[in-house]
Amino acid sequence: MKKILIALLFPWVMIHSQQTEKEPLNIILMIGDGMGLSQITAGMYVNNNTSTLENFSVVGLSKTHAIKSLVTDSAASGTAMACGDKTYNGVVGVNYLNKNLKSILEICEENGYNTGLITTSSIVHATPASFYANVSSRKKYEDIAMQLSTSEVDYFIGGGKKHFNQREDGRNLIKEMKSFDMVKNLKGFQKSEADKIGLFTYKDEPPSLNQGRDPLLPEYLSATLEKFKNREKPFFVLVEGSQIDWGGHANDVDYITSEFIEFNNAIGVALNFLEENPNTLIVVTADHETGGLAIIKGKTKNFEIEAGFNTGGHSATMVPVFSHGKNASLFSGIYDNTQIFHKIKEAAGL
Ligand code: MG
Ligand code: ZN
Repeated sequence: MKKILIALLFPWVMIHSQQTEKEPLNIILMIGDGMGLSQITAGMYVNNNTSTLENFSVVGLSKTHAIKSLVTDSAASGTAMACGDKTYNGVVGVNYLNKNLKSILEICEENGYNTGLITTSSIVHATPASFYANVSSRKKYEDIAMQLSTSEVDYFIGGGKKHFNQREDGRNLIKEMKSFDMVKNLKGFQKSEADKIGLFTYKDEPPSLNQGRDPLLPEYLSATLEKFKNREKPFFVLVEGSQIDWGGHANDVDYITSEFIEFNNAIGVALNFLEENPNTLIVVTADHETGGLAIIKGKTKNFEIEAGFNTGGHSATMVPVFSHGKNASLFSGIYDNTQIFHKIKEAAGL
């Protein structure tokens, strides 16, 4: 009775209390390592002048520099995006004051989220590691593997098995990771009903698509989203197209475009999920550009391209940020890569 009276006298109070009961946000963060605007453009032309990124409603730009280096590496930039703080090149999950940082994945876990990591490199490589590890050097693969083995991550898919079971300290972390169902392939992943599942795709770094890796990134994401959908909690998942960067280092435009197209198809999977699950935010960005790539010649017939490179390393050019779905508008404008962390937190109300 009292409630009805309040509603009659102060209708805006009731409207407000309804609005604050919001559904938790699902977050799909997709990082194309080394995927600058030229990599996207090259991949789009080679893909018959089309990309799933054209469906995104909001585009922004991110400044990628590290704390003391204008040209970042994947560790500093991964840490900036995962943890919200600038740091030195080579450092993972630790800021410039040597303080261990908490990642957005870990914050999501603390707030009752399910979480996942899917990558086309090893799972201990700098980009995915930025979301669960704190180490002074990205090369400390055994330490990083140890930190993943005790992390709260629910699903992971990536290479680098040897860092877990062929270690200098003689330990077999795979045997120690009793909370995980360690599966052998995509089918095993799909079949498993465990709360935590790990899939090592390769013993070492996975090969490129051109050298025989199965183009399974879209399927891995699709299978992981299916798992999340069947659980009651919201989720955070990181998807990395790791080898766009390696194509850039090799100054090999076919390597770049083939890896981009697989990543592009995985973005399509995320967009389809968003259509059926509108309480989802997709953010697609890069940690930096690789190769100083420029498209300097080409033909509109079949969209053939000819590319030139300026470096075998990374460049300091800004990288695009594409966002779509709930609260995507937060990602418009020009900002530091650390804002990826802060904006995701804000979007999810964490
Ligand atoms: Mg990477
Ligand atoms: Zn690189």
